[in-house]
Amino acid sequence: MRQKTQKIHLTTLGCSKNTYDSEVLLGQLAAHQAEFVEEADQADVIIINTCGFIELAKQESIDAILEAEQIKRDKGDQKVIVCGCLSARYKSQLEKEMPNVDAFFGTEDYDNILRFLNYSRDGAPEFLYEKRFLSTPSHYAFLKIAEGCNHTCAFCAIPLMRGKYRSREMRHIVEEAQMLVDQGVKELIVISQDTTFYGLDIYKRQAIVELLTALEKVDGLEWIRLHYLYPTTVQDELIDLMAGSKKIVPYLDMPVQHITDHMLKAMKRGGKSHRIYNIFQQAREKIKDVTLRTTFIVGHPGETREDFEALKGFIQEMRFDRLGVFTYSHEENTAAFNEEDAVSAEEKAARYAELMQIQQDISLDNNLAKVGRSYRVLIDEVDWSSMVAYGRTGGDSPEIDNEVIISPLVGACNVGDFVDVKIHDATEYELHGKIEG
Ligand code: SF4
Repeated sequence: MRQKTQKIHLTTLGCSKNTYDSEVLLGQLAAHQAEFVEEADQADVIIINTCGFIELAKQESIDAILEAEQIKRDKGDQKVIVCGCLSARYKSQLEKEMPNVDAFFGTEDYDNILRFLNYSRDGAPEFLYEKRFLSTPSHYAFLKIAEGCNHTCAFCAIPLMRGKYRSREMRHIVEEAQMLVDQGVKELIVISQDTTFYGLDIYKRQAIVELLTALEKVDGLEWIRLHYLYPTTVQDELIDLMAGSKKIVPYLDMPVQHITDHMLKAMKRGGKSHRIYNIFQQAREKIKDVTLRTTFIVGHPGETREDFEALKGFIQEMRFDRLGVFTYSHEENTAAFNEEDAVSAEEKAARYAELMQIQQDISLDNNLAKVGRSYRVLIDEVDWSSMVAYGRTGGDSPEIDNEVIISPLVGACNVGDFVDVKIHDATEYELHGKIEG
């Protein structure tokens, strides 16, 4: 008997890896003729793909679940399903505390979710990515090359939620890339927890350079963007490949979390500060117009005033183009969880604010230095009512980095187009320009 079409509403929280997982799940559900609805109260099934990274993210996920529970109570005939990191990490606790949720699943738990919704994988394409349902604008897409992480950073719970590092087979990644480009994708954003570790598990060697070389051959692909490089596994060959590539954008995203050897040790990051320094320097010397992106944590147990001053000095010297700062939060079952806080919550907040202010000034200077220059820009949005277009240079990743605002808009310009833009003004986080020609 043909199954009644189920109306499904899916909320995705957290990082780009979760977005990718939701897109794979949507693809599987679509393969079974499920229907997707914008409003949760119109759905038969509400799915929440949660994040469990830090306190703030966990609270956001819990609020989304409580909201879904309330809708179910009001409507009475819906199913509420929770999956993703928070669920992977706290399943038994959540089952007790949230009895109105029909089922909790982990990360990448597609088969169990399908089975719970009375769908079978029979007849579904062999590989999950074959039916992926893009939730990003059609001209760019995330490309997850691996899941999990083998590092044991003292502050991080991700390995507890996503497990050990599992590279995807290179042929599948390249095949998926070609499929996405055939659908109109021009920019692929390569993601994992640790992109430079790629291949060490299944091929017993680092294979990121080989993978990127294969992706460069994908016909029609314009931009390849790398995220989450890890300092101890960044090879000089990778920097050289990026320097000579026409497709890999000059964008080096390498979260380092701190810079003193004392704190790198306390955080169990491995590696030394001079190697981090050397990678950023090398990238600046070799990769033309490279954009450097990184993140730091302040207030981690063990951080002294000297450590913080050294970090501040490093940020002022390196003048990063993109920088994120987090305040340390105690995460259960992580190595630093039971350690004393180095500083008070107020001092953590003060250190955070001080670094963000320094970075804001640097970001303004860096952007003002772009005035008068021209950049290749990928158009993400066009607002014909106000004749303004929004796009990104190779130095801007979607949703997290700067934006190029093109106004007044003259000439043809569509979402997904590449245009050359001359910059005539800048702020801390935006460039303003006009299309050339
Ligand atoms: S590299 Fe460290 S911070 Fe990143 S996911 Fe792995 S354990 Fe967490």
